[in-house]
Amino acid sequence: MVKYVFITGGVLSGLGKGVVTASIGKLFQLRGYKVDVIKCDPYLNVDPGTLNPLEHGEVFVCEYVWRFEPVKGYAFRIAEIDQDFGTYERFLDINMHPSNNITSGQVYLSVILKERIGEYLGRTIQVIPHITNEIKRRIRAVAERSRPDVLLIEIGGTCGDIEAMPFLEAIRQMRLEEPRGNTALVHVTLVPYLETVGQLKTKPTQHSVKTLQSMGLQPDVIVGRAPMELPDDVKEKISLFCNVPKEAVISDPNLEVVYELPLIFERQGLGDYLCKILNLPPRKPDPVKFKQWIDLVERFKSPTEYVRIAMPGKYCMITDSYISINEALKHAAAYCGVKVKIDLLETEAFEEDPGLLDEKLSKVDGILLTPGFGSRGVEGMIMAAEYAIEHKVPFLGICFGCQLLFVAFCRMVLGLKGANSTEVNPSTPHPVVDLLPEQKRIEQKGGTMRLGGHLVVIRKGTRLYEAYGREKVIERFRHRYHIMPDYARKAEEHGLIISAQDESGRIINAIELASHGWIVGVQFHPEFKSRPNRPSPPYLAFIREVVKYKRLREKQAKH
Ligand code: GLN
Repeated sequence: MVKYVFITGGVLSGLGKGVVTASIGKLFQLRGYKVDVIKCDPYLNVDPGTLNPLEHGEVFVCEYVWRFEPVKGYAFRIAEIDQDFGTYERFLDINMHPSNNITSGQVYLSVILKERIGEYLGRTIQVIPHITNEIKRRIRAVAERSRPDVLLIEIGGTCGDIEAMPFLEAIRQMRLEEPRGNTALVHVTLVPYLETVGQLKTKPTQHSVKTLQSMGLQPDVIVGRAPMELPDDVKEKISLFCNVPKEAVISDPNLEVVYELPLIFERQGLGDYLCKILNLPPRKPDPVKFKQWIDLVERFKSPTEYVRIAMPGKYCMITDSYISINEALKHAAAYCGVKVKIDLLETEAFEEDPGLLDEKLSKVDGILLTPGFGSRGVEGMIMAAEYAIEHKVPFLGICFGCQLLFVAFCRMVLGLKGANSTEVNPSTPHPVVDLLPEQKRIEQKGGTMRLGGHLVVIRKGTRLYEAYGREKVIERFRHRYHIMPDYARKAEEHGLIISAQDESGRIINAIELASHGWIVGVQFHPEFKSRPNRPSPPYLAFIREVVKYKRLREKQAKH
């Protein structure tokens, strides 16, 4: 029988509910229970694929592309899902299924299409029961497909949001329908620290729990997000006012390393407590796996040396836009015994003041050129790639960053003035990056890119091969454009190497510079498969080069 743990949020969004959810999952996983995770997103988009990263943060890409067929004859491809799934994959080391991301858009679309084909003939379609039934059906379909012992269900947004209401109502119904001891509700709230009085304040938590209670939901556990651990008297107060035992009030303090949160929760007895209320046989965490996780956290915490990486890009205003890349860099750095300092550089600034380029990039030990879409800030990104080629700075280009490395090479080395991607300049004299042939017919935007996991065939003797140590790997893609093979072959005569292709040899998957430092671009997104205990090979190779480059520069500075 599947146990359900619901995770809701209160007071405000952005509390790190995804990390809380993943950490709770880890507590069960360490006890040998099979875990799966659902995220319900209240927005009306069918998937987040068309959202601007500046509004919503990164879009996560699954290995598997799901054919979402709400009714026969209407199908949509879904592989782009909420960034929280990246957190789940990194903590739990499982590949998530796209149908685990349930959006209001999918739910309403299904119900309305079913109405059109006559599935509810004669009836008025309403939020309760039709929308709530569809939500419950989707949740149970995941339970049915993956058969976990514990299914965690995170509800996006904050209780009290109009959009989240149907999801919260569906939870209320599920808690009633399931046998006693089969569900638990964890509510994550903010406990702000008020500097002027030197106190942690519980009132916002009290209000948010009242809002939940007014919807018929009583939390079993309250996780209090605060700058520090909650002292006893604060836990007592939350317990008294929010109607939960004191042992069920859990601290979620600021942490330098997010992967430490499961350990903090375990120390407070959360794993045992949840097992108790879910009537699961009491188990202790597997000592070997627990120790491995402790060691992993230590590896992230202990380095004292920093390497500095520039990330020129266009979505630099919010830190969440490149979260999987940031994490992949951290995973690799921890393996090399260093920490990373990331400089997010808005490249429009380089276009306005080219002098900034040297000022910003001469300080760093490596450059990672970011994924992206559209034309804003792109000249500045190309300038950054040219800088890397000219100064032999270790360089990793991801997707758009790889395409723009190729543009830079064509301009600098092949002398193709005005070379560009047709995405950026449709009338460029040298379209060195252009739409994939099958993309030329596609007009609709949602879910229509080349998506998901694809086989990458790596050429022996290249830097990329050295990184992977294998000829064939599966990596995840999300693109419409690609490097034009004719131009790439011309470039091969001038020191560029095509280091990976797809199985058919039609799509260039990676390039690198032959005799020129470590300058590598990949058309795929290796960051999505990076794990804290298993860093992504190209990221690991990149950070190794970055460390070498830093040492070299330190030596040169001494002389
Ligand atoms: N805009 C580019 C393309 O569609 C790159 C996409 C990306 O960086 N994910 O091919």
